[in-house]
Amino acid sequence: MIEVAEAQAVILRRARPLPPHAGPPVPGRVLAEDVVSDLDMPPFDKAMMDGYAVRSADFAGGPSKLQVVEEITAGRTPEKPVGPGQAARIMTGAPLPAGADAVVMIERCEAAGEDAVRIPAPVTAGQNVQPRAREFRRGETVLAAGSLLRPQEIGLLAIVGRPSMLSHAVPRVAVLATGAELVEPDHEPGPGQIRNSNAPMLIAQAASAGAHPHYLGIARDNVSHLWQLIGDGLTHDVLLLTGGVSAGKLDLVPEVLRDLGVTAHFHKVRMKPGKPVLFGTRGEALVFGLPGNPVSAFVCFELFVRPALRRLSGHAAGPPEFVSLPLGEDFRYTTDRPTYHPARIERCAVGECVRPVAWHGAPDVRALTLANALMLVPAGEHVHRAGDAVPALRLN
Ligand code: AMP
Ligand code: MG
Repeated sequence: MIEVAEAQAVILRRARPLPPHAGPPVPGRVLAEDVVSDLDMPPFDKAMMDGYAVRSADFAGGPSKLQVVEEITAGRTPEKPVGPGQAARIMTGAPLPAGADAVVMIERCEAAGEDAVRIPAPVTAGQNVQPRAREFRRGETVLAAGSLLRPQEIGLLAIVGRPSMLSHAVPRVAVLATGAELVEPDHEPGPGQIRNSNAPMLIAQAASAGAHPHYLGIARDNVSHLWQLIGDGLTHDVLLLTGGVSAGKLDLVPEVLRDLGVTAHFHKVRMKPGKPVLFGTRGEALVFGLPGNPVSAFVCFELFVRPALRRLSGHAAGPPEFVSLPLGEDFRYTTDRPTYHPARIERCAVGECVRPVAWHGAPDVRALTLANALMLVPAGEHVHRAGDAVPALRLN
């Protein structure tokens, strides 16, 4: 039996980013190359307002009446320089004409006949002008490999002329439920049967981690059925199994995995719920044998699978990050292993605090629906006081 931190380290050592491939940007993917700009941004000194492009020196002595030499709309290039005593009508986004060093917004200006304008002082050099390359220069790296593609990154890729780029593939995750007692959620359970809740839950967790889940169904507790479905699952980047991994008579998953060439790196972690979790690999494929109890499966996904999926997706991610928060109430608890207790992070007088939710053990999924966090309680007999700091992991 190993500790959670050690198990996470074992997994992260084997979870390597999936190979990059070229294509248009997809939100949620991770960039696999540094992206360099092919232009200065902005590419020219740019008017940031509708108004008049002027020479600030013309205002040293106060307000000025200027001759208007041309009109420059966005997308056009100025044809005439602005000399002393002159101005050009200019629109937002248009290039500043030679000679001008400031833009005065239209609302402050007053027409003075056909081709003249009266402009009040003061006017300072550079006002309402975005100078060329203020944001970045041609040749500069504007996005580093490892960046998550969000809408704003996708906008920047367009600015620098990259309709196609290298990004990491999204992990394909096969999900297999095991257990002769399971029926699918649209079935009425017969005597001794329960509905398969883990598969839909794990599929949703995988999707929330940005992976592509693929459901394999329910394997009965017999070797040939398990053999066939696990074999199928091993063609994916990740195989998630639930059930059949503990020490029961029909817990056949570990031996079938072994016979199919999966090397187990650990099987049992000192934690609650979720002790019998198994992690193995075959080639680059990662295999997680998650416990059958739903809260155990859920917690093991959050502690072990989600960080692995982030790594495969190209994130430079480590183990999940716990924050230290004050307890919102007294909490008495006795446990023989470090325990990940369903909890709620809430607003309270001191900012945020965490409260345990009522929880009836490893099968109790309802407790998870009341939770937005897992709170870590060490092994032993404890009386925690309101205000004591405890580590908590936020759930998405
Ligand atoms: P096992 O690890 O196969 O012994 O399962 C432990 C417990 O979890 C048993 O009570 C199972 O009925 C239950 N269980 C196993 N798989 C699932 C599943 N897919 N959905 C809901 N409960 C399950
Ligand atoms: Mg079972």
